[in-house]
Amino acid sequence: MNEAPIRQAVILAEGKKTRLGEVARDIPQPMQPIAGDRPFLDHLLEMAERHGYQDIVLLAGHLGDRVTEAYDGRRIGGAAVRVLCEPAPLGTGGALTAARAVLDEQFLLMNGDVMFDINLRALEQVARQSGALATLALCRVPDACHYAQVTEANGRVIEFQKQATNRSGPGTIGGGIYVLKREVLDLIGHLPCSIERDVFPLLVQRGDIAGACFEGYFLDIGVSEAPETGRRSLARLRVRPAAFLDRDGVINVDDGYSHRVEDLRFIPGAAEAIRLLNDRGYYVFVVTNQAGIARGYYGLDDAHRFNRAIRDRLALEGAHVDRFYLSPYHPDGIVAEFTMDHFDRKPNPGMLLRAMAEWPVVKERSFLVGDKDTDLQAADRAGVAGHFFGGGDLAGFIGAILASDEIGWDSTQT
Ligand SMILES: [Mg+2]
Repeated sequence: MNEAPIRQAVILAEGKKTRLGEVARDIPQPMQPIAGDRPFLDHLLEMAERHGYQDIVLLAGHLGDRVTEAYDGRRIGGAAVRVLCEPAPLGTGGALTAARAVLDEQFLLMNGDVMFDINLRALEQVARQSGALATLALCRVPDACHYAQVTEANGRVIEFQKQATNRSGPGTIGGGIYVLKREVLDLIGHLPCSIERDVFPLLVQRGDIAGACFEGYFLDIGVSEAPETGRRSLARLRVRPAAFLDRDGVINVDDGYSHRVEDLRFIPGAAEAIRLLNDRGYYVFVVTNQAGIARGYYGLDDAHRFNRAIRDRLALEGAHVDRFYLSPYHPDGIVAEFTMDHFDRKPNPGMLLRAMAEWPVVKERSFLVGDKDTDLQAADRAGVAGHFFGGGDLAGFIGAILASDEIGWDSTQT
């Protein structure tokens, strides 16, 4: 079993199909502003970055210079974005073949026309367990008329239709998100080639394609009615409650100034708890005081490395932290630049307020879990509920908070 999580997300941003009519003429379809002023692609990039993919590769084609201009070399949170332009439009298989030299052994592939709001690390887990060359996130839709349908049994895809049925009614379709092994490109005979229409049916014959159904918001901007629907719903999708988690003593065992990766041990149920929050659509923000940096016990780099180790270990469990916030300050430090009582240092609310400024958070449903009074004071000053975690199983603890949220939250308020 491969013990490193996938680090690369490839997004097909060819945008040849211009079903949007007039507006699409000089902007590639994935760059169309669809919710507010945000290009559709920004939503996909944000999704990949939140899940911890560090290397985001956009495969552009039609109007590729526009994509390059907007995204190549951009940094989004912990991810670096690069754009590759295919020399000629040769289908999704052609785009991937042209990019072969930069592709990791296994990578996430996202269709640039589709938003399917799922737990990407959970899909990756399905791929790891199946060992298949391709793993598909399947989506049940109320009307599958425009789509080729997919039949799954016991985690394997056993039928992949080549064409849309053109019959209205519910069905199971590919949700436009895949985990692929690079070897899958060996099956491409001649170009042009469509991965979905030409390669997946071959994998079905070989029994080497896995699939799992996921529930989540689905929007395909390639269908004509989507832009209007999308404008209303996609902006709302980003508005979520947040779980603010203290780090030491909540996620990992607190050894006192924990910073060495080899000392990292999870609190029982920590990965499961975070996955539960991911699956319920909560943002998960770590808010951690790292006074050891001000005190000169270790550096900022050590703290970031420790956070990355948490990220990678969570990814293998199908879970992710959307953003780590850390405060390196302490009034009694020895490192001058961090020696002060900063607004970020809990019990001050700086980190929580910054997270809520950077992300559209439903404050009244958000909460913090911490193991110190100062954590709870920070929550209180930021205006979110605080829960004291005194040890034990974190999944049970957070499960109980979520259960009470569901009872207390009146969904008609959305
Ligand atoms: Mg703590």
